[in-house]
Amino acid sequence: MGPFLYIDVDAFFASVEQSINPALVGRPVMVGGLKHERGVVACPSYEARSRGVRTGTTLHEAARLIPDGIFLRGDFNRYQDFSDRFYNILYSYTPDLVRISQDEACLHLGGIVRQFADPHTLAQHLQQQVWDELALSTSIGIAPSRIAAKIASEHRKPMGRTILTVQTLPGFMAPLPIRKIPGVGAVTEKILHEMGIYTAGQLSQVPEQYLKTVFGINGLKIAAYSRGEDGPLLRDYTVIRSVSRETGFADDITDHAILLSHFYYLLERAARKLRTLYKTAATVKIKFRYADFKTVEGATRIHPMSNDEGDIFPAVERMFTRLFTRRVGIRLVGVTLFGLHNYRDNESFLNDRIEKNRRLRRGLDYVRAREGFFSLMTGRTWALDQRYKRGDTGYELRTPGLSQ
Ligand SMILES: [Mg+2]
Repeated sequence: MGPFLYIDVDAFFASVEQSINPALVGRPVMVGGLKHERGVVACPSYEARSRGVRTGTTLHEAARLIPDGIFLRGDFNRYQDFSDRFYNILYSYTPDLVRISQDEACLHLGGIVRQFADPHTLAQHLQQQVWDELALSTSIGIAPSRIAAKIASEHRKPMGRTILTVQTLPGFMAPLPIRKIPGVGAVTEKILHEMGIYTAGQLSQVPEQYLKTVFGINGLKIAAYSRGEDGPLLRDYTVIRSVSRETGFADDITDHAILLSHFYYLLERAARKLRTLYKTAATVKIKFRYADFKTVEGATRIHPMSNDEGDIFPAVERMFTRLFTRRVGIRLVGVTLFGLHNYRDNESFLNDRIEKNRRLRRGLDYVRAREGFFSLMTGRTWALDQRYKRGDTGYELRTPGLSQ
């Protein structure tokens, strides 16, 4: 266990806009919609926050508060691109990380901290690298537990670093207002206030069984969190139901082997995404579209569930061979993995045990994150090498947004 490093990009969407367009640096940027549109600000820059705009402020109100503000609709593909590059940096430190969102991740430091003089130097180094490569500022918390690392990352923002040890953790937690504890929302806070409990230190003194009676399972969670300990119940924050990768071709393809290479490549990409999510899939679906736009789909159960392209590909190969029956070129292929489950049901991503296979794949993911995608090639995708340019993180397939 431990230590863990929690990193969070400060004002992610707005910061990406400022990173791309230096004229916006230092200006109140608000991403979410244009000035007179309906809707709310999804992400205000720190300059906009200092003038009273929060996430969720209506655009109308934001325009009243900051008449000279810069209002942008935002561009999801652009943020995803920065997110991918952010994760590439993180993977160069360790493969052992949990993706919380596009701009938040929790790294298990384990031994890597030894490569640096101390955790503070490590945090500084990582922040500097994200800044140098992406011009994004980040805040970092390092602590003996994941939850304490998260709380620490929120402690000082932007560009904050908060480092806790087993010795300093209790002193850090004790005075924290209970609202800072994940799982304590407005309603829980109100009830606790009525009980005379205002700080994490006070909360940690309340018998767990009592909190369980009042708040149910959530009571046990906040009891653990109030001590800065990972409870048994923290789950993946985002619900992702499937992972898909697809690509179209500049020219229609009829060659069976080359089409299979594409399927393998897309499957490899999708499976890697699942691994970063700590999920396995129960079903794989393929689709392909003939030159005349007739689209064919097929799905197969994956048994046992897997996130390993080596396990899943034989099913893809069998399906495609069975379904590709016309002598007509193909213009698009795609792979979807769905029926997603966490590694073990009823266990959270907090669990530390790692199976051997998972280790192996993660090791490969790690090498690729460090040395580039092409440092490890499989025979199956070699055919693609003749057809596509090598990009930073993979082949540059024709459909750019999808070739991740
Ligand atoms: Mg953030």
